Amino acid sequence: RHDRSGTGIRLMKDWSGRNVLIIGAARQGIAASAYLVRHGAHVVLTDLRSAQDLRSEIRSLEDTPGAAEQVRYEFGGHPVSLLSGVDLICVSGGVPPTIPLIEEARARLIPLTNDSQLFLEFAACRVIGITGSSGKSTTTMLVGEIARFAMELNSSPNGKQGPDVWVGGNIGTPLISILDQIKQNDLAVMELSSFQLELMTRSPQIAAVLNITPNHLDRHGSMENYTQIKGRILQYQEGTDAAVLGRDDPTAWKMAQNVHSNIWSFGFHKQDLLQRGTYLAAEGIFLRAGAESQDLHVVHPGDIKLRGEHNLLNTLAACAIAAAAGLPVKAMREGIRSFEGIPHRLEFVRNWGGADWYNDSIATAPERAMAAIRSFDDPIILLAGGRNKDLPWDDFAKLANERVKHLIVFGEAAEVIIHAINDYQQIPAREIAAGNKAFHQLPITKLDRMEDAVLAAAKIVQPGDVVLLSPGGTSFDQFKDFEERGECFAQLVKDLT
Ligand code: ADP
Repeated sequence: RHDRSGTGIRLMKDWSGRNVLIIGAARQGIAASAYLVRHGAHVVLTDLRSAQDLRSEIRSLEDTPGAAEQVRYEFGGHPVSLLSGVDLICVSGGVPPTIPLIEEARARLIPLTNDSQLFLEFAACRVIGITGSSGKSTTTMLVGEIARFAMELNSSPNGKQGPDVWVGGNIGTPLISILDQIKQNDLAVMELSSFQLELMTRSPQIAAVLNITPNHLDRHGSMENYTQIKGRILQYQEGTDAAVLGRDDPTAWKMAQNVHSNIWSFGFHKQDLLQRGTYLAAEGIFLRAGAESQDLHVVHPGDIKLRGEHNLLNTLAACAIAAAAGLPVKAMREGIRSFEGIPHRLEFVRNWGGADWYNDSIATAPERAMAAIRSFDDPIILLAGGRNKDLPWDDFAKLANERVKHLIVFGEAAEVIIHAINDYQQIPAREIAAGNKAFHQLPITKLDRMEDAVLAAAKIVQPGDVVLLSPGGTSFDQFKDFEERGECFAQLVKDLT
């Protein structure tokens, strides 16, 4: 692969004496620092937060041999003086590229990169990259599961170590931390967020865009900009690479026009399926691997353990991605049969009060809460709220009004949600007044904290209900992250007596 990275220091396996500035000292910044220190670079690690706030991160870096001598820290701010003598800047996903330090670096033509880009530049094996507004983690983990089965099917009986599958990126471990262990025949499956793609100038050999719906507009400004950023996953591909696109999502599918690699696609219907991709029929998922080839049956609907229509789509996506990577149908089948989903994504917690309680704390946009609502036919008591990301709630209000039995709102977004529901309910109110019984007035309870919402749900729950935490807002008003929120929810539900 020739250098299209623009960093000018591609294949600089020997980092000794190089000065790298790493902005952001969380998961990604720590993993990048450790990698670079191991390879002899001098690192300056900076973060707006204090050393006190970041002490566990710093401690984890100190375990890397050489860190004591090669890492210098700058906490509580990013003075421009940090740029002097710097060869490369590595920007963590959480850091907006519009901060003054980065603008100044651009002006001085200092190359910018991030841990994902470094991984793509140096990984010895093929890389599958997966992005989209929703379903990234689920699809990434499922592709990883399929790939593991594929490697097993291929493994030699003489006990020699075969190829490995590495799964990570935006979910799990940043893959840069295992870069040195990768062998040529391995396969890496990488989840990429828009935050990471934003400054990337390199694409994986197999790149998937699942869907594009309004998300993170607080950071990316407009839908156009957000779409353009997601498109970077395809932009730097070569002709022999593969692009996998969702046919049912107009914005993702439109990207096909600019793809210059081999297009694969996935979607519910066979129509529009060009030459290569997956679709759904009564007997389950089918794969077409080329215009001339016969369609292959992959799995029956009953083999898919994940709930919800959106997960059917994610499974269709995983099959198309696996096929684009040349993995066999048998591995797809076995991977799908064994995959039970990932925590905090429509995760079943327990049955209590005759109702099934689900934790979907990951749902941090209204769109996602809507996907969760659509996954159930039973009466839903929905817990929604958290911190609002300036996303529109009107579609959510309509769906909640149609499908939710009782809405419990909590946290900073509570008022915004109530407002959206009230706006929408003016329509049902008119219909009810006119005698149309098809409409109902959705009961709402407003509480401050998620913990109170759980207790309120326990008071009103009836046998046969589903109680669903699918907040639609982020967790940051009350928790460290969505995982802490989900764990708190699950614990409270487990403690109900
Ligand atoms: P991501 O990694 O993109 O955040 P996940 O796979 O973790 O996505 O799923 C998070 C949540 O997003 C799910 O619990 C569900 O509410 C919603 N979701 C997942 N897949 C889809 C999809 N294909 N379309 C719409 N919403 C989805």
